[in-house]
Amino acid sequence: MNKFEELGLGEAIIKAVDAMGFTDPSDIQAKAIPILLNEDTDIVALAQTGTGKTAAFGFPLIEKIDPNSRVTQGLILSPTRELCLQIANELKNYSKFIKGLHTVAIYGGASIQEQARDIKRGAQIIVATPGRMQDMINRKMVNISNIEYCILDEADEMLNMGFYEDINAILSHTPEEKNTWLFSATMPREVATIAKRFMKTPIEITVGHKNTGSKNVSHEYYLVNSRDRYAALKRLADANPDIFSVIFCRTKRDTQKVAENLIEDGYNAAALHGDLSQNQRDLVMKSFRNRQIQMLVATDVAARGIDVDDITHVINYQLPDEIETYTHRSGRTGRAGKSGTSMVIVSKSEVRKIKAIERIIKTTFEKKEIPSGEEICQVQLFHLANDIKKAEINHEIDTYLPSINEVLEDFSKEELIKKFFSVEFSRFHNYYKKAKDLNSVSERDSGRNNDGSIRYFINIGQKDGFDWMSLKDFLKENIGLGREGVNRVDVKENFSFFNTAPEEQEKVLSVFESFDLDGRSVNVEVSKNSGGGRGRRDGGRGRRDGGRGRRNDGGGFKGSRRSDDFKPRRRNNDRNDRNDRGDRSSNDNRRRDRRRRSDRD
Ligand code: ADP
Ligand code: MG
Repeated sequence: MNKFEELGLGEAIIKAVDAMGFTDPSDIQAKAIPILLNEDTDIVALAQTGTGKTAAFGFPLIEKIDPNSRVTQGLILSPTRELCLQIANELKNYSKFIKGLHTVAIYGGASIQEQARDIKRGAQIIVATPGRMQDMINRKMVNISNIEYCILDEADEMLNMGFYEDINAILSHTPEEKNTWLFSATMPREVATIAKRFMKTPIEITVGHKNTGSKNVSHEYYLVNSRDRYAALKRLADANPDIFSVIFCRTKRDTQKVAENLIEDGYNAAALHGDLSQNQRDLVMKSFRNRQIQMLVATDVAARGIDVDDITHVINYQLPDEIETYTHRSGRTGRAGKSGTSMVIVSKSEVRKIKAIERIIKTTFEKKEIPSGEEICQVQLFHLANDIKKAEINHEIDTYLPSINEVLEDFSKEELIKKFFSVEFSRFHNYYKKAKDLNSVSERDSGRNNDGSIRYFINIGQKDGFDWMSLKDFLKENIGLGREGVNRVDVKENFSFFNTAPEEQEKVLSVFESFDLDGRSVNVEVSKNSGGGRGRRDGGRGRRDGGRGRRNDGGGFKGSRRSDDFKPRRRNNDRNDRNDRGDRSSNDNRRRDRRRRSDRD
């Protein structure tokens, strides 16, 4: 028997489960599904984001709905249009082998008439945002007086968004004797209140610790001077060339500003906030899902609907006012079993908030250093080398090969590599060569940066299965150093950095002189104060837009608002540069232009 069958699910759903490729129920599914199938009860189910709550209520709901009746039997309330659509799509997937079962999503920003028509055709399940639901009830476009199941999904977020009154009003149109299922990532006081108010002796199930963030997320903070916040953000992005991130700001204004600055500086970024029209927001979300946008700068409210797997980093450009909100932010990464990083950029005056958040998430933050320009150059260079290694050869070049060979015939392979990398490298190097240390040195930390310790580069990283803790252990063990012997371990995908005291340098280098890890030679070098970088964002990672915003290679950084703020301008001909690369990039440009124009409105 399949593990989902053991939970009591019927044939049609099992078939759908197979089609979706689910093999094992998640913890919350294993706990909730048998209860909901076998008992008519109210339930409060708490589990972190990304743990499969949709199926935990969706499977039993679909089992219990009568597809032969056209009456609306189930209502799911969800905080945002995004989530609403997502849930409706999931439910359609789950029920694709059940004839006659219809799920309709209703949400703001789309034609209410059309939605009313869809419902009229017969919708046993309605997935709705509270605002639109209220609207449709008032206009008598829906009838929920016979529902048997009401699901409050992401209850904490609905309350955060101020939907308490709407929920209250909507539920007053539903029958007394229904079952209410409440699903939430966290259990703040407000959710407890709602459970008390609207539910009858609910069964409570919890997976993991209440209120804790996802275990797959590591939390880091970076202490900088307030005025260096933006420069620090860029360094964090540059040090993680494959970043796919959500950046949180406190206000719509800051969100817009940071996104604009990033775009201007050649990053694939966009803003998401409430001042954008629904259309604009849809466009942004679409580009984000397609990975045309690597850095989505968002307000907390606008980000609530973001339900995208594979987000590698959440960056708290500013901490939220309510520290509880931090959990929601960091929950955007580390979804569906993947690991993620939540970074916080803080100034001295905010650093105490970190402690308060640690108490809530019951995890400690690691204090990290904003990477130096030199480190970033190294990262980018290595990334470029890997890109080249992975690149598929375009055979159309073959025709030109003889003449290219002729031009380059006098160079050895080594010289060619050096020359090629120099071309790519100089821009980045120029950009970062005068880059200052952005780490704000608190008294407690003073000496930490200039303690004379040696920084090393090692060619193993995440892809070899390391995270900073396991690499630290690995290094301590193999070099033979004590607890504090290895520090500032920074693990990237293909390589890492670490520090030791200067007296250990000889030992470190000799250990790794001929070291073998699963048949691969491990190479350690002292990270030197030389080197440069390449002046591209998004270096050929197959992004659809090919959006290679080149940095100014003239060496000069045009004046910026603040002298200590790096703000290289893209070259004026950048636009042509992009258009030359084909339709897709020019489309993307047009899209950008459109967005920019509307931003000014
Ligand atoms: P939550 O609502 O708890 O944040 P979701 O229901 O959105 O989580 O699920 C997160 C992701 O995990 C989705 O992409 C979903 O398809 C996937 N998923 C859910 N249950 C399973 C399962 N049993 N096996 C594999 N993937 C699953
Ligand atoms: Mg969910």
